[in-house]
Amino acid sequence: MLSKPLTALKGVGPAKAKDFARLGVNTVYDLLTYLPRDYEDRSATKTIYEAEDAETVCIIATVFSPVTETRGYSGILKTEAELVDQTGKIMAVWFNAKWVKFNLHPGKWYMFYGKIKRYGSIKQIDNPLIEELGKLKSWRMIVPIYPLKPNFSQNKVRSMMIKAMEYIDQMPETLPEAVRRRFEVCDKNFAYHNIHFPKSFHDYEIARKRLVFEELFYLQMLLYGIKKQTRKSTAFVFDGKKASADFIAKLPFVLTGAQRRTVDEILADFASGTPANRLVQGDVGSGKTVIAAAAMAAAMQHGYTSAMMAPTEILAAQHYETLSKFFGSRASICLLVGSLTAAKKQKLQAEIAAGAYDIVVGTHALIQNKVEIPNLALVITDEQHRFGVMQRDAMEAKGNRPHTIVMSATPIPRTLALILYGDLDISVIDELPPGRKKIETYCIDEEKRERMYGFVRKQVDNGQQVYIVCPLVEESESAAIDMSALKNVTAYAQNLQTQVFPEYRVAFLHGRMKAEEKEEIMSRFKAGEIQILISTTVIEVGVDVPNANLMVIENAERFGLSQLHQLRGRVGRGSAQSYCVLMNQGTGEVAKKRMQVMCASNDGFLISQEDLKLRGPGDFFGVRQHGLPSMKIANLFTDTQILKLAQDAAQWITKTDPDLILPENEVLKAQIQRLSARIFL
Ligand code: ADP
Ligand code: MG
Repeated sequence: MLSKPLTALKGVGPAKAKDFARLGVNTVYDLLTYLPRDYEDRSATKTIYEAEDAETVCIIATVFSPVTETRGYSGILKTEAELVDQTGKIMAVWFNAKWVKFNLHPGKWYMFYGKIKRYGSIKQIDNPLIEELGKLKSWRMIVPIYPLKPNFSQNKVRSMMIKAMEYIDQMPETLPEAVRRRFEVCDKNFAYHNIHFPKSFHDYEIARKRLVFEELFYLQMLLYGIKKQTRKSTAFVFDGKKASADFIAKLPFVLTGAQRRTVDEILADFASGTPANRLVQGDVGSGKTVIAAAAMAAAMQHGYTSAMMAPTEILAAQHYETLSKFFGSRASICLLVGSLTAAKKQKLQAEIAAGAYDIVVGTHALIQNKVEIPNLALVITDEQHRFGVMQRDAMEAKGNRPHTIVMSATPIPRTLALILYGDLDISVIDELPPGRKKIETYCIDEEKRERMYGFVRKQVDNGQQVYIVCPLVEESESAAIDMSALKNVTAYAQNLQTQVFPEYRVAFLHGRMKAEEKEEIMSRFKAGEIQILISTTVIEVGVDVPNANLMVIENAERFGLSQLHQLRGRVGRGSAQSYCVLMNQGTGEVAKKRMQVMCASNDGFLISQEDLKLRGPGDFFGVRQHGLPSMKIANLFTDTQILKLAQDAAQWITKTDPDLILPENEVLKAQIQRLSARIFL
């Protein structure tokens, strides 16, 4: 039943099932694992007499007289009902809620949940939620609130969930009994019942603990699996001090202290006998590329080849250019990307295989899967977006355990990184090159749009360039893209081009364009031919155009703060003062606070910490980007106690049954295989 589509549930037709697909829910299993983001506490039931002004309460009352509907001048439908209980009378009022009339019947008893307003002696409850007494299987005091999309009601999800609840006992238990007993976590059945419809907050805590534990436990098990394979000896042991010092001496600038330290740490790895396995973490603009180059210079001097991988062609091309500038004629470098013609690609691959290049730059996909690189001693992964610990194995399996360095701008608290990665060494570049100016950041709303346009014109008239970013989630791994969203963005871009900025050279860039097209637009922007570049988040990582000094971000509230920070890092690379304007179309307090964080700070680390605090559990920053499964319920920042417990459990298992051969641990083995398959996709 679990793997069946929602239509297998009683009374669910294809239309409804299609609706749920918008939430990413296709099967009964998907639904049951679609977890609430919060709960409403309706245990605070009051009588009408007790309910006070401005209080959000739950009252139990009956409908006294027929429900009335009236339409005001503005066309808004107003529905009213008179409710009574033993202590008094209250008016319930709804706006534009056609469904109410069909669901409220005089004489019947309901539970109403909403905010009380008091006008003199008259009490009113606004837009209350309704639930008929005795209709639902059990009287629920704690009600789940699910994360939703527009035009989706909580009740729709709740009632669907109730239908699916009876199949919970079919969900396979994924934690062996011995683990559950030893680490005091409840079984799956209890957990899923009480995460959706907890009978008490105590039960909810127990349920949540189990689900968080499970996530973190498997995270640890996956990591142990990786560690077992790494840290053998490498064939590439060399002293790179002289070569890198020579390289650094020829640079047009002086390395910062943090850059120097990082280079030294990498050189020590090269000389140590075990393959380097290092995460170089530095805020945008901290100068990671030159560190990579210094490391490659060291490998090159000993006749070894290095590979540098980037997530996009634009980035790979940029690295190729930068490295060519750094090395001049001292190194032979090639660029291997998908947009080359088949013939060129073939020729290049043959040359690489014959050992013609010191440095191979390309996209992850191509380098990982398509080429043989002889003598490969060093693999550098830049701005790895969802490429990380898991992928480094794929590369290592290829050759003689090359040194691997991962460069990332996603800040992750050091303690946490150590828990997560354990054996991964970390270098932190905590210092920016001198002379960088703070990017002035402003948050505005629709009202100031015209002024924002004026500001854009002013920059362009001064000879600067501008990015305008609009949100369109572009998941590189999913072929399916929300076409209507793309249409909206395209229309928006067209309007800017033809109506708002007709006098300027404006171009539009998005992820669905052909690689050559993207490449061409980017290089025209770099050359200054394009003055205003409208773009989706494809420019998020690493692109370097020093003359661009203003970035406008539409619907900034939809982005994660770390992502905003990365985007913003595209400006502030030249000598002119740079600006970032966040258009906030959101209304909530949290949205406002998040925008304030962006305006106040340019420090990526601080921003990500604040983001975590404001965001709560869910998709923890970094974890996904570091190539690990995303967390559905665990919050790595606040669930440290359960994390510790999960670590103990994983350690206990690896000690007592390292290869998972005991019959009771079969479930573990199967689950780990399932999870790793998903990550390697
Ligand atoms: P990121 O860490 O974001 O990848 P980059 O490597 O792109 O940063 O460096 C950003 C810019 O700073 C580049 O133009 C680079 O040449 C320059 N840069 C790097 N290190 C220094 C330094 N020590 N002094 C001055 N400029 C530097
Ligand atoms: Mg970079």
